[in-house]
Amino acid sequence: MFAEYWNPYIERMPIEDLHKLQEERLRSLVRYVHDHSRFYRQRFQEAGVEPDDIKKLSDVTKLPFTSKRDLRNTYPTGMFCIPENWVVRYHVSSGTTGKPTVVGYTQGDVDMWTESLARALTSIGLGRGDVIQVSYGYGLFTGGLGLHYGAERIGATVLPTGAGNTERQIELMQDLGSTAIACTPSYFLYINEVAQKMGVSIRNDTKLRAGILGAEPWSEETRKRIEDSTGIKAYDIFGTSEMSGPLFTECHLQNGIHIWADLFLIEVIDPKTGMRVEDGERGELVVTSLDKWAFPLIRYKTGDITILNNEQCECGRTHPRIMRILGRTDDMIIVRGINVFPSQVESVLMRIPEIGDNYQIIVDRKGPLDVMTVKVEVTESTFSDKIADLMSLSREVGRQLKNVLNITAEVELVEPGAIPRSEGKAQRVIDMRRV
Ligand code: ADP
Ligand code: ZN
Repeated sequence: MFAEYWNPYIERMPIEDLHKLQEERLRSLVRYVHDHSRFYRQRFQEAGVEPDDIKKLSDVTKLPFTSKRDLRNTYPTGMFCIPENWVVRYHVSSGTTGKPTVVGYTQGDVDMWTESLARALTSIGLGRGDVIQVSYGYGLFTGGLGLHYGAERIGATVLPTGAGNTERQIELMQDLGSTAIACTPSYFLYINEVAQKMGVSIRNDTKLRAGILGAEPWSEETRKRIEDSTGIKAYDIFGTSEMSGPLFTECHLQNGIHIWADLFLIEVIDPKTGMRVEDGERGELVVTSLDKWAFPLIRYKTGDITILNNEQCECGRTHPRIMRILGRTDDMIIVRGINVFPSQVESVLMRIPEIGDNYQIIVDRKGPLDVMTVKVEVTESTFSDKIADLMSLSREVGRQLKNVLNITAEVELVEPGAIPRSEGKAQRVIDMRRV
């Protein structure tokens, strides 16, 4: 029914050959950006590095880092390396963490992006005969169009619903037999909730068997909830607009996201020192693009916290994996000196069966003290129980948060539906200290 690999030669390439390929591509990339971009020339000069200094793969550490700040400072296209009339498409990021940023593509760049997704979607067992419902936003956001092209490339049928209009999504899912859906995990939970209200069971009344879920942090516990309640397999998909958009997924083994090493060179660093951390240790993901020409990336600091896994995957793909993204450095909440990522709070909450799928973290300052409140919905059946039970439940949630995260939080249990739903990225943190 489906090919096991989209591009078996590249996907199973021996590591040494992959490294050789990366080395060659890195050398030509560095020469290219130096010759085609004033921005990079200047950066190299400041760092005292010339293209000829980059000979081996390990020389990548001689290159300066870049970040979202550079993209903003050169808004809109100051980091591009081609004349504007070669750009076939722009995307503009939603600006989750500030002023929007513009990215651009050559035709070849769009093809690279599509190739990456074709490999990824094939690796989770999708192909001809599948109907892939793309419920990511279409337009300036990269999610919709990215998945659309990737799904078409592997010969699947695309149902381009975009985000929103949830009841209609569910009707179409049934009428046209969607077998996979691509959206944020929080939107998928909402779709499931609306389906239940419509009397539609995703497990019994649809053909859905895979979710391609990402664009925001989520946890293993949420994956388990999604899989248990709907019967689908939920796969993590990752990318950022600077890298192209969504690019990489886990393979069918669901144990880390394969990053195609012929296309991107990745490092995981300590965000404070800029030094690489050991494999298996947590750090910030840094990417260098090896086949992207309108807007190439040199050691781009994504802000995303993950763990690099260079062990060979049992699926036969030789490319490295990153483990689930914990969150962005700027999403990290520091409460009374303790660092917490919302996804860690989520892990604790989703293990408690009486707790529903939606939560929000509110951080405020009372006098000199930071106060963190976890506002979380209870399930329908918990809600209809007695008040006394709710009080002991809220104490229990507070106790588990304290046990696992070593943080004291006020817990506010609310009725199902009280927390706003999102069709795209959910807003999990409200930091009143920043207002
Ligand atoms: P914006 O920066 O405006 O939100 P992007 O589409 O570029 O727009 O967002 C990319 C970011 O989304 C990543 O840097 C990461 O923080 C987050 N993200 C994307 N996919 C995942 C995922 N699977 N898990 C966790 N976070 C993700
Ligand atoms: Zn694998």
